[in-house]
Order: sequence, then C-alpha cells, then structure tokens
Amino acid sequence: MLDILHGIVQDVNAAEDLPQALRIIVERVAQATDADVCSIYLAREGEDYLDLMATKGLNPEAVGQVRLAYDEGLVGLVAEREEPVNLEDADSHPRFRYFPATGEERFHSFMGVPIIHYRQLLGVLVVQRQARHRFDDSEAAFLVTMGAQLAGVLAHARASGGIEAMRTPSGAVPNRPLSGVPGASGVGIGRGVVVSTPNELSDIPDRAPVDTEAELNAFEQARMAVRADVTELAERLVDTLPASEHILFDVYLRILDGNTLSEGVCSRIRAGNWAAGAVRDAIDEQVRLFEAMEDGYLAERASDIRDLGRRLLNRLDKDRDDPVAYAEETVLVGTEVNASQLAEVPEGCLVGVVSGSGSANSHVAILARALGAAAVMGVPDLRVGALDGRELIADGYRGRVYIEPRPEVRAEYERLRREEAELTEELKALQDLPAETTDGESIGLYVNTGLVSDVSSSLSVGCDGVGLHRTEFPFMVRDRFPGEEAQASLYREVLAAFAPKPVTLRTLDVGGDKMLPYFAIKDENPFLGWRGIRMTLDHPEIFLTQMRAMLRASEGYDNLAIMFPMVSRLEEVEQAQRLLERAFTELRADGLTIVWPRVGAMVEVPAAVYQAESLAYRLDFLSIGSNDLAQYLLAVDRNNSRVAALYDDLHPAVLRAVNEVAESGQRTGTPIKVCGSMAADPGTALLLFAMGMEGLSMSSSGLLRVKWAIRSFTYAETRDLLERALSMEYPEEIRALVASALEARGLGSLIRAGK
Ligand code: PEP
Ligand code: MG
Repeated sequence: MLDILHGIVQDVNAAEDLPQALRIIVERVAQATDADVCSIYLAREGEDYLDLMATKGLNPEAVGQVRLAYDEGLVGLVAEREEPVNLEDADSHPRFRYFPATGEERFHSFMGVPIIHYRQLLGVLVVQRQARHRFDDSEAAFLVTMGAQLAGVLAHARASGGIEAMRTPSGAVPNRPLSGVPGASGVGIGRGVVVSTPNELSDIPDRAPVDTEAELNAFEQARMAVRADVTELAERLVDTLPASEHILFDVYLRILDGNTLSEGVCSRIRAGNWAAGAVRDAIDEQVRLFEAMEDGYLAERASDIRDLGRRLLNRLDKDRDDPVAYAEETVLVGTEVNASQLAEVPEGCLVGVVSGSGSANSHVAILARALGAAAVMGVPDLRVGALDGRELIADGYRGRVYIEPRPEVRAEYERLRREEAELTEELKALQDLPAETTDGESIGLYVNTGLVSDVSSSLSVGCDGVGLHRTEFPFMVRDRFPGEEAQASLYREVLAAFAPKPVTLRTLDVGGDKMLPYFAIKDENPFLGWRGIRMTLDHPEIFLTQMRAMLRASEGYDNLAIMFPMVSRLEEVEQAQRLLERAFTELRADGLTIVWPRVGAMVEVPAAVYQAESLAYRLDFLSIGSNDLAQYLLAVDRNNSRVAALYDDLHPAVLRAVNEVAESGQRTGTPIKVCGSMAADPGTALLLFAMGMEGLSMSSSGLLRVKWAIRSFTYAETRDLLERALSMEYPEEIRALVASALEARGLGSLIRAGK
C-alpha cells in the first residue's frame, strides 16, 4: 500500500496543474481501492459548501455542477463531522441524498474521508462501490492517509489561487496573496531578489540569459567538471563499495554523456532560460520519468538524478562569479533566508523579506526589524522561482505577500507605507524627551544592535545606551573566527558611538538558529543543545579572545557591560567570571588602562527564572531574553512556522515568569532589563514598565513607539493594567486589555497598520 501511496503522491506533485492532479487522484485511488467511484469535493473558503471537482465513475458532466452544503447528504456529513464515514448501505442512511446530476443511485457502499490541513477542512475524498460492502480497515487507513497527504497539495493550490482558477469559467488565476506568518511589521514594496540555498533545485528561479552562448558554454563546463568529479570518486571507491553500489557511478556517467539530459538543457537555454534554470527543468523531467516507473529499483534512481542535478548546479554556482543583483528596493526571497544573506544586502536597499521557513522570533526576522524591513516568514510551499524579479508587496503586519499586485492593492499599501513614514516622522519629536509617565516615573529605553548600520539608526532615535549588542553576526558573515584585533575594532566602534552611555556586549551566542559556516555544530535539537555560553565555556580560547577584545575596546570609554547568554546554571556564570578576570588581569599587566566592566547574564532559560535571585547576588544586572524564554517555557520552537500561533509573549505563564524575575530584582536591589522582542511591543512595554524594570531594550525602529506609549499613561494606570493582566488566564484576554488601553488613549496606530 505504501508504494501505491507514494506513487500517487509523486504523480500528483508532478502534475502540470490542479485539474490534472485531481484527475490522477480519483483514477488512482479508485484503482487502488477497487472502487467503482472516486470523487473529490472541495470546500469553498469561508462558506460551508462543497463542490464536486473531480470524479471517476460518476457522470463527468456533474463536475462543477454539484454543490452541497455541509448539512446535505453523506459528503456533507463527512465535512460536518470532520471524520471518516464508512457505510455498507449508504442509501438507507438518513443523511443519504440523491443528486440526480451524478447518477449515483446505483452505488451502495460509501466511504468518505475529510481532507484537513492545520485544522481547516479543504475537502472530502469519497469512494463508492456498487455492491454492498464495508470498506475494511486497511482500505479505510489507506484513504485517511491519502487524505492527509493530499491536504498539503490542496492547501498549496488554494494559497496560490489554483482552486479558484478551476472554479472560474475563464480559468484565470485571481491575484491572491501568499500567506505566511507576520515576521517584522511594516510594508515592503519592491522587487523580488531570490537568494537560493546552494544546490536546491526547487530554489532556482527562471532568468533570461544575458548571453545564450555563454550559458551553453557554462553548462558544458559544468557537465565536464561533474563528469571528472564522478569518475574520480568512482575510482577512489572502487575497492570500498560493493559492485552493486558502484554501478551507480556508471549510471551517472551514462546520464551525463547521454543526449537526453544535454539536449534537454541546451534546448531550454536556447528557448530563453539561463543554464541553472534549464538544468532544473531538464532534471525535473528526468526525475518524473523515473518516478513513474513501476519498478521500485528504477523509481529509486530518481533521487540519483536529483543528486546529479545538484552537482551540476553546484558547479554552475561555483563557476559563476556574478554577484546577486540587488534591486534598489529589494524584497529578499528564499526558502530559508538566513541572517548572513540578509546582512549582505547593500545598506538602504532592503525593504522586505519573504522566507519559506521561520517565524517572528527567528533571528532573520529580528534582523529585518532592526533594518526597518517588513518580513513575512514561514510561507508554506514557497515557489521562490516564481518571485524572482517580480514586483512584490511584503505585508509584515498580516503575513501576506502580493505578487505583481493590482493597482488598487498597490495604492492601498502605498497609503499604509506613507502613513507609517508620517508616524515615524511625528514620533521624532519625542527623541530627546525622557520615557516618563505623565506623573514623572521613568524607565531607560535602550537599543538592540548587531550590525554596523544599527548604530546610526539608534543614535538618530535617541536612547539611553545599548541594552543588547548581539556579537554573533560579524562571526556569521566571515569564513573564520575573527581575531582579537578585528573584534576589538568592531566593539570599539559601538562603544565609542554611544559613550558615555552604557553599551552591553553579549558574548557569542551561536548554536540554535545561528550557525557559523566554519564551525559545524551538529545537534539533533539545536535549541536544546550546544548553544551560547555552553559552547564558549567549552572553547575558552574563543571566549577569552572575545572578552579580551571587548575589554581592549573599552579603554578610554569605560562604558562596557558584558552579558552572558543561555545561562542555565550558576557554575556557568562563575566559570565565565573567572575567565573574564583572567583576561582583565592579563590586559592590565600588559599596561592597558581599563576598568572592570559591569557584568550580567540573560534570563532566557526557565531555570534562570527560578534562580534569578542567586544570579542577581552574583552579578551587576540581569536581562530577560523573552524570545528564548517564551520558546522554552511554552515548548514552542521560535523558528517553526507550524507552531508560530502557539508562540505568545502574552501567555500568562510568560508574563508571570517575567514578573517573577522583576520581583527577584527588587528583592536583591539588582537592575533588570528586558531585551527580547516583547519589550518592543508598546502595549506589553506598559506591563513591563509597571513591573519595575530598570530598562527595556529593543530595535531602534520600535523605540519611539514604546516611548509614546509610556508617556501617555500614569504610573498608577500601568500598575492597574498589570494587576489585571496578571490575574487573567488567557493570552487573548491580556492582549485585548492592553489593546483597548492603547486605543482609548488614541494610540491605536501603534498596534495596527495605518493611522
Ligand atoms: C532573547 O532570546 O530574547 C534574546 C534577546 O536573544 P536572541 O534573540 O538573540 O536569542
Ligand atoms: Mg536568546
């Protein structure tokens, strides 16, 4: 059964369009279950109706004509209950309803399974037989599995407008946005620039070649180079691999030497695609041919062909030295955009990010926010190739992406963007005013930095210093660990720019979703693995170099604070402090006139919440990393778009944990800051202020908004809000509470798009 299932899914994925995919499903499922009829009914979005969209066995004329409500017939019953219905004698069931157009009265047995994607009913898959028969357990299991597999295909078709196109007589695809997860609020209007994960076939966009001959040549060079690689590999492994495996290399060479692939690629180049796009399509074609083969061994060869395709792309990529052509207003697109790709966009050009993976708390989204770009994360089944060079709107408020938007959509977004810019402009009036309530209670507002460009934008909004400088980004864009001098000069730039205001440099926090290309960390579960201080304590040479660089950079400025990330045990802090003392003593012995920095730790692991007091006694300050704290408290991967809706800063558990740390700070007289994204939300910031935080640290783009909120309330009002919020049991209640408080003060534009 599994083979049949795989085969059907592969064919469906390879179908040219949705009607063909549906036809394949009904034919193959009917065959596999020995049914006389197999039909697919698709749900209408937002309406409780189903349309018959494909059938094998019913009157074909009925397709597109039969429409039934959820309370009609047996198919409606499956939709209504959202569970399988298996009947031996369908026509005697009280819900049986005869639809004359289908001619189905001849069929007695009925089984229908719902097709559900992330709790949403997309349709119903039905099989029927003439004879009275109860579909057995294995047939039922097959249909349920089939339904679950098809859900992804149909969800994609729905998101890309394929289903609506089938319903419109002209077949025109309406201009529908892609949906993802809001990553960084704002509106980015610009050109799509695809950054591909090297060698991923599906990431390769179509591009018109500048010079056809050069592309043909590039392919030929790549083909010969891969041929040489494969031959060499084959020779090297001749004694290691068994003959049956070694044959694989002959298969590769035959494909490379044969006409089919070469002609497939060259004809596509001549037809107007660049070499990489032509390789993608030619390989795809071969893969489909192999996958369609009934013989399991041959079907398996499809993955070898894909591998060959990746090798060719890798070669083409290596030989190509033309840099990515960024547009003046770039919307960066990729299946998995990473932080270094973002950092490589020339300053001032990035207006939006669209990523197939990740969520609002991924570091890419945090960086996008720092750069003032809108981000839409976790767009399912993102076909990046279709977005390259196209005009795109990234709506970071709602998590939508519009491709070649209609003029009225564009005009609406331009209005929003204008209003945003006006609000930002108006808020500049607050730049030099303190973050102080109307009755004179104040809080420090600090910036989070990490890129050189953050410094100037931070200085322009006015702040009390740097609450979190993420040091890992310069490590990520290099090809080796930066040395002490290189680091010192980077840190000096930040310390000098903000002096005499304090600057908190966080020691290296790699691992999790921040990997260094030259230092592989292979964790099964990276967020629970070798991350932050765990890694740096295991590599004192890296840690000492960094702390020496920080201390060295502070000479003459004396505004340095050092902070340790991912602390989960007191010993980690004690060991880190000992290393810091060593670095300090050595540098003093070398004659540097440096002063002992303020030293703190991040509270971002639940263990640290419960030991906040013990940490506070040992340190000068604590800073709450709510991005990770929420991830670990709620057991929700901050990077996983599938569970993004469960990630919630305003979950009562998160709010109480944060409040507990604030209370530990008060008991020990230790200043507590919040430097995670919750500090940048104006409503949440009011609650944090009321908890008695010493400071809030956020990306510069959010600072004046938070200041405006704080300056609009009295301290007593914020305390009252906090008290009420802490007594609430559901995140939505808390969200509604702060939202209505902001709306009531006329600050609604801080929490939604537009004025
Ligand atoms: C946090 O976890 O809240 C934090 C500020 O650190 P990062 O986002 O860099 O993990
Ligand atoms: Mg963190």
